[in-house]
Amino acid sequence: MMNAIKAENVYEASVYTGKGYIPVAGRTYIDALRSAGKDLPAGNGYIDISEIQGIRGIEQYDNCVCIGAAATLSYISDYLLYDFTGEFNALCLAAMAVGNESVRKRATIGGSIAVCSPASDIVPALLALNAKIELMGPDGIRITDISGFLRDGRPALSGGGIITGVILYRRGGRSTYEKEGERGAFERAKAGAAVWLNVKDVFIENAALAASSATPSVIRLERAENALKGRKTGNEVFLNAAAIAAEEAKEDADKEALIRVLVSCLKRAAD
Ligand SMILES: Cc1cc2nc3c(=O)[nH]c(=O)nc-3n(C[C@H](O)[C@H](O)[C@H](O)COP(=O)(O)OP(=O)(O)OC[C@H]3O[C@@H](n4cnc5c(N)ncnc54)[C@H](O)[C@@H]3O)c2cc1C
Repeated sequence: MMNAIKAENVYEASVYTGKGYIPVAGRTYIDALRSAGKDLPAGNGYIDISEIQGIRGIEQYDNCVCIGAAATLSYISDYLLYDFTGEFNALCLAAMAVGNESVRKRATIGGSIAVCSPASDIVPALLALNAKIELMGPDGIRITDISGFLRDGRPALSGGGIITGVILYRRGGRSTYEKEGERGAFERAKAGAAVWLNVKDVFIENAALAASSATPSVIRLERAENALKGRKTGNEVFLNAAAIAAEEAKEDADKEALIRVLVSCLKRAAD
């Protein structure tokens, strides 16, 4: 068992990270690294943020949903199942797609963002939902767009600090998430896609698409989004956008899988 100091609040946690301590939450990733004999993140010690009450829950307001960084993936999917607008389905489905039940009961959304693996389920959903990330660092609290927070597919967390929450603003529309690959085999997923569409009278007013696994890192697919905006929903338009997205895939990627998951998501989000 790893020794970690338990933080009482986010301020205390951020002070410790400023002293070179590593934040830990569900410890699923840290434990998996240790079991595989891989290097653990190097620091002066560990600060456990999993029991900080203020960042474990979810709060709902008229214009947004605020998710604490230490909320577990199983709690998030259970909670969002009852958001009948369909707007945040992508995150609900992505959280359900992660690993297995015992991982989902411990893994946190903050940990998923910090790890930000190229095969992540959670990060593409957050990109498609245009999530804001709340951070507590040496300079206090900061809120940033997820796309600005992920530089070259890696989270900008250098200099200490912790992710304290995720904010999803309501914009209308519907979102969805799908991945293809062996169930529960994290790094062997062929492709994952998250789609948010705002459709009015069969015309696509706005779109946000993101992919994982088939792409070098988790990315927003802006060229494919532009190919959708202003167009009438339909198979041909969806296939064209997915083919444009596949141009962003890495050389050894399963492009056909990326096209399949994207088209399937586009159809469901447009329904
Ligand atoms: C068996 C297994 C299967 C998996 N399958 C999938 C899968 O199918 N899809 C998928 O997307 N992921 C999968 N994962 C990855 C899983 O989603 C991550 O391990 C998990 O989300 C990390 O969250 P955690 O709370 O356990 O983080 P921890 O293990 O506690 O920490 C992981 C890293 O994040 C940092 N960190 C944690 N919280 C914060 C915070 N609030 N602020 C800043 N840094 C922080 C830590 O310092 C550490 O470097 C799998 C993992 C395992 C072990």
